[in-house]
Amino acid sequence: MKNRPLRIIIAITGLIIALIIFFQLSWLKKVVNYEEKEFNVKVVTILNEFKTQYVGERGRSVIDRPDETSYLLHMHEFIDSTVARRAIRLLMDKEQLNTACEVALYDSAAARYLFRFRIIPGKNSNDSSAHPPYAKAIPKEFSYLFISFPNRSKYIFSRLENWILSTALLILALAMLLVLLVNFLRQRYVIRFQRDFVNNIVHEFKTPLAVMKIASEVLNKERIAEQPDRLKKYAGIVNSQTNHLEQQVQRILQMMRSDKYDIELERTVIDTRELVNQVTTKLQPLIEDRQAVISIHISKEAEQVTGDAAHLELALVNLIENSLKYSKQPEILISASIVDRKLQISVKDNGIGIPRKYIPMLFEKFYRVPSGDIHNVKGFGLGLNFVKKVVDAHRGKIRVNSSEDAGTEFIMEIPQL
Ligand code: ADP
Repeated sequence: MKNRPLRIIIAITGLIIALIIFFQLSWLKKVVNYEEKEFNVKVVTILNEFKTQYVGERGRSVIDRPDETSYLLHMHEFIDSTVARRAIRLLMDKEQLNTACEVALYDSAAARYLFRFRIIPGKNSNDSSAHPPYAKAIPKEFSYLFISFPNRSKYIFSRLENWILSTALLILALAMLLVLLVNFLRQRYVIRFQRDFVNNIVHEFKTPLAVMKIASEVLNKERIAEQPDRLKKYAGIVNSQTNHLEQQVQRILQMMRSDKYDIELERTVIDTRELVNQVTTKLQPLIEDRQAVISIHISKEAEQVTGDAAHLELALVNLIENSLKYSKQPEILISASIVDRKLQISVKDNGIGIPRKYIPMLFEKFYRVPSGDIHNVKGFGLGLNFVKKVVDAHRGKIRVNSSEDAGTEFIMEIPQL
């Protein structure tokens, strides 16, 4: 593995980023907890002092918390509303608890509230007609002073503004760093595969060019005119190699173009058998060369289908060519059937198979399964990418079943309109 140190650095960076975010969030949580406790301590202090200083009750105060925002202070004595308002306002100022609260005094003997009012910090509000919404719902068998802070969460968060802002900025900065990192890795990945691609192209073109060079040297000899058989033979070689090169260039251009422009489909009714026959005829020289055994199975319903014949033909050429390239003694089954109103065309071989870990990358441009010597089997890593694009253009799916040394099956699913 050439990039081991880089990978380790990237993995460590990712881990550090994750840890920083984790610690920052757990700190934030701690600070929130601390502020909640602080809030509670302030309210309890206010209630205790209220009871001892203003109501004149001694002894331990009993305080219930029916919910997070409300408190019930058990009372044995009653107090006038004006005094209570002034007292609570003073105590809140003393404790610097600057948030609105609702107060009510409940008399259990009369089963009603003796008074209710609202305190809004900064405002000298006399809004005693306001009915604290929570107080209504709590009839008890004991008398109590009800105090509730509807804006408690807002108050706590307002005290944490800077913390939250700095956490958000930190997470944003780290997220951007991650995006840059991922981008950098992608670039490296693409550059690596492009390099392999160029190597493969050079290699692919080198052999025909060398053959043509020799042939043209022979054709250049003066005495060649006296040997018509030889002349014909070498002219034939030049011709077939030129055709081969031309075909290769066209295929590469077509595949590269499919990257720039969306594939435009021309859907027609296709005779599936004819389509498969055309493909095998095109690949006949390679089939013979590899001494491949090809079987074709087309179910009755799949004999006539809809799709873009030209593109599907090219996709099949790529799949079958791969089966021929990546099998030692190729036995290939081409089958077509209709399942759930979708045409399923599959190409199955008995070849070298594809290790499971490489399957997710197969359809990426320039991707070739690393097999030691990349020039062993020629290719540009564009075929499957093109096949996927053809299938996508048909709004279909492509699946792969493969096991190492046992063979591979590619299944194209093309929805039928
Ligand atoms: P290539 O030009 O390299 O064949 P493809 O995009 O057609 O590019 O295929 C990508 C890679 O997938 C190939 O390099 C090969 O390793 C693997 N592959 C594709 N088809 C098969 C198959 N039928 N059997 C084994 N491996 C395959």
